[in-house]
This record gives sequence, structure tokens and C-alpha cells, in this order.
Amino acid sequence: MGFLKNKKILIVGVANKFSIAAGIAEAMHKQGAELILSYQSERLKEKVVQLGETWGCKTFIECDVTNDESIESMMDVIKKEWGCLDGIVHAVGFAPANELDGNYVDVATREGFAIAHDISVYSFTALAKSGKDLMNGRNASLLTLSYLGSQRTLPNYNVMGIAKAALESTTRYLANSMGEDNIRVNAISAGPVKTLAASGIKSFRKMLSYNADRAPLKRNITTEEVGNAAAFLCSDLASGVTGEVLYVDAGFNITAMGDLRDKD
Ligand code: NAD
Repeated sequence: MGFLKNKKILIVGVANKFSIAAGIAEAMHKQGAELILSYQSERLKEKVVQLGETWGCKTFIECDVTNDESIESMMDVIKKEWGCLDGIVHAVGFAPANELDGNYVDVATREGFAIAHDISVYSFTALAKSGKDLMNGRNASLLTLSYLGSQRTLPNYNVMGIAKAALESTTRYLANSMGEDNIRVNAISAGPVKTLAASGIKSFRKMLSYNADRAPLKRNITTEEVGNAAAFLCSDLASGVTGEVLYVDAGFNITAMGDLRDKD
């Protein structure tokens, strides 16, 4: 019997088997959760359904998080299927490719900034607003995915770093705003993982090897490790935890200088 038994969780953000959301779905399924998956567009449906069936999912819903009607109609389907909701995982991020290649001040645009914030930040609040009634009285929990670029600068991450800072702040504001309904809101700051979204960031391979060299655990993390932490945060084992950003990054964020042994 897993620690998510009887939990009904919506996962937003599976694109393929490499997605962080796929690692989360797998871990939550292992812990006994019932899952509904959404997918961004028809183009992704087949892959998401194939994957979801391996986790026992029966319901798959198309949802574009930039569209409030699309979010509302997803919640209507969940209401019909389950009548309630114990958790929402928001594993969604996007910025136009030209924003993620070059010197921030030169490549930033008003339009790209707005798109990145709408899709990567506001959508978390939109899902919380729309799912609130279904989660009331359920000891429910919301989870989003962040990255260290919210706190520190790194090459090419640019507007996504600013969006992630806003997303972490959103996590705290939502936690405070929904706490009276016993709805918890947390974020995981994951280390770099090779996914579709990550492939849009210039020099991402170099980031991976830099991270593995300097992290205390001397390696990169897996989506399974993010999944296990996500399962914990969305379970009643984490009932006292809200507004937190939990790092699952092999410890990279705690280092200032990494390892000097190879510099002797
Ligand atoms: P991914 O490409 O597998 O997932 C991104 C998801 O966002 C996709 O499923 C995509 O369909 C969805 N999406 C984008 N625009 C959308 C829209 N308008 N409506 C609905 N869905 C939309 O990549 P991933 O790396 O698994 O990304 C998941 C989250 O993890 C993102 O927030 C990302 O910033 C974060 N993250 C990733 C890494 C990494 O290194 N890969 C590290 C830390 C945090």
C-alpha cells in the first residue's frame, strides 16, 4: 500500500517519456495515486495516452494553460469523473527560443517576456483558481517545478530565470492564500534534465556536465528522483510543509566553488 493511496491527482505537463512530469506520474502511480493527465494539444495526445495507460490512467484531457476556458473545461471533466481533486502538478514551462540564446539585455523582448510569464508562471495560479473548489476539504496540495536560474544567473536561461523567480514567489503567495482551506503549495527546484523544454536552451549539454562536475553528489539527477520528492510533497507525509522550494539537484545549489582538487 503506497503513501498516495486514495489520492486523485491531476498532472499537467507530460509531453513524452523524458518529461519531468512523466517521472512524477510514475512515482505517484507506484505510491498508489489515481492520475488524470492533461496534454497541451492533439499533437501530443497519442504519446501521452500510451504512457498514461502504463500508469493506469483512464482519463486524458486536452488543455492549453494559456486559455481559461480550456482550463475550466478540464476541471469540468474532472468534476464529472472524480467529483474532487487531491492534487495538481504543474510541470509547464515555455519561452520563445530566441529569448534563450544570447545576452539577456540584447535578446529580451516585451512579447517574449509576456509569453514566458503567461505560460510558465500565471498558469500555476490559473490552475489553482480553477481547481480550488474541487480540492476544498481534501488536504490537497499543489506542486510546481522551478530551477536555480530563479536565484542565480546562468548563461542563456534569461527570461526563464525571471519567470522562475516569479513562480517561486507565486508558490509562497498561493500557499498563504490557500492555507486556510488546508491546501498546501510547494515547488521543486530540479537540477538540469535533458527534456524537450530543456533542449530549447542554448548550450544545455554543457550545463549538464558543469552541474555533474560541481554537484556534491558528482552527478546529475533523474526524473525518478524528482518524482519521488514530488510524491512525498503531495502526500500527507508532508502535511506540515507549504510554501517551500525543495531542491532536487544533487546538491548543486549549496556550492559556491565546487571542487578544487582537479585544479592542483
Ligand atoms: P517538457 O518539455 O517535457 O515539459 C514541458 C511541458 O510544458 C510539456 O508537456 C508542454 O506540452 C507543456 N506546455 C508548454 N506550453 C503549454 C501550454 N500552453 N499549455 C499546456 N502545456 C504546455 O520539459 P520539462 O523539462 O519536463 O519541463 C517541465 C517543468 O520542469 C518546466 O516548468 C521546466 O521549466 C521545469 N524544469 C526543467 C528542468 C530541466 O532541466 N529539464 C529543470 C528544472 C525545472
